[in-house]
Amino acid sequence: MSREKSFTIVGGGQSGLQLACGLLAAGHQVEVVQNRTAEEIAGGRVLSSQCMFHTALENERALDLNFWEDSCPPVDSINFVVPAPDGAGKAVDWNGALDRKAQSVDQRVKIPRWMAEFTARGGRLTIHDAGIEDLEAYAKRSDLVIVAAGKGEIARMFERDAARSPFDKPQRALALTYVTGMAARPDHSAVNFNLIPGVGEYFTFPALTTSGPCDIMVFEGLPGGPMDCWKEATTPEAHLAVSQRILDSFLPWEAERCRDIALTDDNGRLAGAFAPTVRRPVGRLPSGAVVLGMADAVCLNDPITGQGSNNASKAAKCYLDAILAQGDRPFDEAFMVATFEAYWAYAQFVVGWTNALLMPPPPHVLNIMGSAQAYPALARRIANGFDDPRDFFPWFAVPEEADAYLEKLAA
Ligand SMILES: Cc1cc2nc3c(=O)[nH]c(=O)nc-3n(C[C@H](O)[C@H](O)[C@H](O)COP(=O)(O)OP(=O)(O)OC[C@H]3O[C@@H](n4cnc5c(N)ncnc54)[C@H](O)[C@@H]3O)c2cc1C
Repeated sequence: MSREKSFTIVGGGQSGLQLACGLLAAGHQVEVVQNRTAEEIAGGRVLSSQCMFHTALENERALDLNFWEDSCPPVDSINFVVPAPDGAGKAVDWNGALDRKAQSVDQRVKIPRWMAEFTARGGRLTIHDAGIEDLEAYAKRSDLVIVAAGKGEIARMFERDAARSPFDKPQRALALTYVTGMAARPDHSAVNFNLIPGVGEYFTFPALTTSGPCDIMVFEGLPGGPMDCWKEATTPEAHLAVSQRILDSFLPWEAERCRDIALTDDNGRLAGAFAPTVRRPVGRLPSGAVVLGMADAVCLNDPITGQGSNNASKAAKCYLDAILAQGDRPFDEAFMVATFEAYWAYAQFVVGWTNALLMPPPPHVLNIMGSAQAYPALARRIANGFDDPRDFFPWFAVPEEADAYLEKLAA
């Protein structure tokens, strides 16, 4: 049995609170420093679309953090559509069933509940916007400090890893619209993913928000293109109107589902942009003390593949396992690098796949995405790749592998 240790986690989001509850369960002392109160989060703007697939959900279930198993509508499949060049119909349309359901619980619901749960389980929750001096103090009094501050300013203390970050600018203009009143699909639920060449992507799926079930609309507009149009949407009414106008212009079948939609609440909307960035995992403080970055703070992806919360859950699990395996050995720089690299052994595939989808699709990818309409096994494989994107490699990335795989399917 190793001795009880003390951990400070800066940032109480998906990864921070999940890891915190895991460390508490293993008998350690944990402080989470969070810059917003539960009330501020619950009453604030939406943060994400947070669709999570089976493996990530299992990590929550293992810690008894799955409070919305029955109240959150399930996502049963991935539906992929490319509009025909004339704009009238669909050039590609297929559906791949997920082997196990996905779920999206509004972080305005999840995070406040997890904050309360963490405290009830014996954790110490401090509401404070931590800066570098605070990190110095935490490093003095803790065995390990983990920075899980997501897109927070403090994550800039971790040096950008240029070799792992091909982009230095945002690749999409992002927007979220949480709505009620969207007509359900006729058969079963799905992430309805529409790829509009030269314009961007739109996807939508059911979720649970503060007022109950809803649908989330996610817009990914190419910079400077017609879907990069959120600057004028400064009021809730304008945001909803822009959302509907985009569907009317490019996706009539999606517009049809949205005749009677309303925002879930005035804060059920978000618009912004950020550059996907991988950072070095070890942050060095002026005193020389080191802290370890986790999840979005050091591995931030564009939401196009809906992987961020999934990554955060998997990072928290990976870090928990590494910490527990370390026993009474020190949480030094070598431990930090090894822990991140263990996570990167997985995350590199998510980053590679996500970044590839931000680029204009090469012919072999067009071929794969089109062929899935003819081969249900391929549609199913692509859908389930969202749960574990390692399964896309190498056949999705390497043209010869894609050809060989498609030939095998045809045979
Ligand atoms: C538009 C959009 C759509 C998305 N859609 C999806 C999706 O469909 N599926 C999916 O899996 N992911 C999605 N994501 C990403 C996902 O929400 C994030 O990747 C995930 O929440 C990251 O978890 P985290 O623990 O790293 O950080 P977060 O969950 O962001 O938590 C960080 C916390 O740290 C706090 N904090 C920041 N700075 C400080 C500080 N100095 N001191 C104290 N606290 C601090 C923040 O307030 C926050 O509570 C989406 C994101 C966006 C923006």
